Amino acid sequence: MTVRRQAQQRPYGFLITKAGVVLVGLGSLLAFVVGLTSLAAALAVFGVAVAAAMVLSAAMMRSFNCPDCSALLRPPQGWWYRFSGREILFRCDRCDIDWDFGVKGQED
Ligand SMILES: [Zn+2]
Repeated sequence: MTVRRQAQQRPYGFLITKAGVVLVGLGSLLAFVVGLTSLAAALAVFGVAVAAAMVLSAAMMRSFNCPDCSALLRPPQGWWYRFSGREILFRCDRCDIDWDFGVKGQED
């Protein structure tokens, strides 16, 4: 039977990247609201931030290693459309463990 375990390490890079993108996105919109930049420039920065977030999180979802055997873990199928804020478990086939790194879907 597959075991579920809480990983001690936290995906700081993943969380910092998410927070940074949110800050850049909000900052660009704020800059437009207070009149520092044009709407086109603000939307361009916002779009780049969203695109960067998607590329970076996709790359990071494939860079988790098993804390026990250090094998590369695979993210669950369809993790990118889990917008419910549910936790995302990473599976190690070798150990038969579902690792919980504290990563959740969007909207958390
Ligand atoms: Zn393992």
